[in-house]
Amino acid sequence: MKPPRDDEIEGSFGRALRAVRGLAGSFSLGSLSIVGLSIVVAGLLITALLVGGGQWLLLRNARTNAQATLDNISHRMIGTAEQAFDEALTAMTGLAVQGVSRCTDASIDHLRRAVYATYAVKEIGLTEADGSTYCNHLGIAPPHMHAVSDAFEGRNPTIHFRAAETEDGATTGTMISWDQGDKTVLVAIILGRALTADLLPEEWRASGAAVIRLDDGTLLSSSQRGDEAGLDKTPAVRSDIVEAHLHSERYPIHVTVAVPFEAVWAEYASLHSYTQFGGFLLAFFVVTIAFFMSRNSTDGPINEIERAIRNDEFLPYYQPVVDIRTGRLEGCEALIRWKKPDGTVLSPGAFIGLAEATGLAVPMTRLLMEKVRSDLEQIYHERPHLKVSINLFRDHFDSIDITEDVERIFGKSKIRYRQLVFEVTEREPLADLDTAKLVIRRLQSFGARVALDDAGTGHSGLAYLQELAMDVLKIDKLFVDAIGTNRFAAPIIHSLVGIARNCQMSVIAEGVETLEQIEYLKALGISAAQGYVFAPPLPAAAFLKLATAMEPLKYQSLVEPPDIDFIDAPLPDLGSRTRRAA
Ligand code: C2E
Ligand code: CA
Ligand code: CA
Repeated sequence: MKPPRDDEIEGSFGRALRAVRGLAGSFSLGSLSIVGLSIVVAGLLITALLVGGGQWLLLRNARTNAQATLDNISHRMIGTAEQAFDEALTAMTGLAVQGVSRCTDASIDHLRRAVYATYAVKEIGLTEADGSTYCNHLGIAPPHMHAVSDAFEGRNPTIHFRAAETEDGATTGTMISWDQGDKTVLVAIILGRALTADLLPEEWRASGAAVIRLDDGTLLSSSQRGDEAGLDKTPAVRSDIVEAHLHSERYPIHVTVAVPFEAVWAEYASLHSYTQFGGFLLAFFVVTIAFFMSRNSTDGPINEIERAIRNDEFLPYYQPVVDIRTGRLEGCEALIRWKKPDGTVLSPGAFIGLAEATGLAVPMTRLLMEKVRSDLEQIYHERPHLKVSINLFRDHFDSIDITEDVERIFGKSKIRYRQLVFEVTEREPLADLDTAKLVIRRLQSFGARVALDDAGTGHSGLAYLQELAMDVLKIDKLFVDAIGTNRFAAPIIHSLVGIARNCQMSVIAEGVETLEQIEYLKALGISAAQGYVFAPPLPAAAFLKLATAMEPLKYQSLVEPPDIDFIDAPLPDLGSRTRRAA
């Protein structure tokens, strides 16, 4: 089933639907021009770069901050451990000074006081000289922990450090022993917990780890049990871990603090989602701006011309060229018009400058030539003496592409090449004379003619004209206008006619508006003219009517078709004419 048309839907629902369709139409992607699309893509790329850059900065920032925090924690851990060891050694020094060397009640009392006076020391004990008796602050009792590593010498050779553990292995600690020299040994035990408690920030505690080890790697203290936050995992996994290491300068221990980067990044998650949201907003903003810019540029004059070419809005009008001696039709000049969808018809002055500046002139001419072919094909086939002039732009003379267009469009048409005239204006000089010559030669080799338009208004000297070897010279309206009013115009027309004769060119007078002008031109020996005195540029249908009326077919069989003649009439005496005009 086909969807209903807008006008088939009635009532408020219909109005709503029409509004929605209108909106959808104005927002369709189809209206996005190449420029608009490029802006959108560039905008998205910039947005992606900004968001990517932001994310990269955030990642780098997260890692550096985490590293700084861990470095700081490792220093504090070493500090705490050293302080605890210092405390134990100070207590033992005190006991040695007090001469604690046997497990007497007095000694046990000293041991008790020493433990109570310290913060980190869990137990201080004494092994008597024969090694058989051990007592601690609680009396004659087995030690709380036993050593699980080799002994590491401190800076003083009578002091040793060992890793220690409870019987069940659940608690670790450090055992510091002091050989008093009389074969008695004082022993202090520091619990691991006392060294690593609460150093990691709250949010890292679950997955991070702070660890103190003896130089041989045996564990003294860990903020975690078991896994130790991946510290024992393979290097590949560890690459995603931020860690800090520090060795004590005074004791045979080192610390490692580590946290998986995941846990660090978690704190940045909200910031990260803000940048992503910001990026999304930016992208949305960029696409919207680009969209409206491209819509504006679609409405701009360049795109309007592009669109008009696509929509076939350019068409030729035809201005008759008349033989002023016989009154017969010689042909016409095709002059472009822009017929807008609303029916208004624009003259070339309103748009060809822009078309030329934007490189659209060439496709525009191609279209125009195709229209000329289809408009005139039949009538020109039947009247082979008729000519049609087509105006070319400067750009057409920069490459020989135009000759390929001419071949493609007219090569197989019923309009013969010899019925074509291509006009090149003298108003602006040609950029590349060599290529221009090639183009002109090529068009002439087909049998077409080339005309110098607006002759007398530009700067082309005689040499230029001779070099380009054109076939027709069109005297500009400026000089025709001046006939009978301006005594300086006559000598110019006179010399133009002289040049044309020297170069063996035909002459057409443009912009003829009065009978007086016709008489004057005739007297000069000029036979072809166009202008409002005969007809303005006409739409195709009107021109075809005029042409069939002026050149009926039966007339064709009677009269041999004339051609645009080379000037052969003698030039009249200018002196008397200028006097008369003055
Ligand atoms: P042009 O080639 O010199 O064309 C003659 C212009 O004079 C035309 O203006 C025509 O309408 C106007 N004209 C003809 N007889 C009279 C007259 O008796 N009195 C007055 N006042 N004007 C007359 P139009 O059609 O506006 O074209 C203006 C110019 O635009 C043309 O000057 C030509 O240079 C350019 N042009 C027009 N069509 C094309 C085209 O298809 N291609 C190129 N390259 N240029 C074109
Ligand atoms: Ca012209
Ligand atoms: Ca002209």
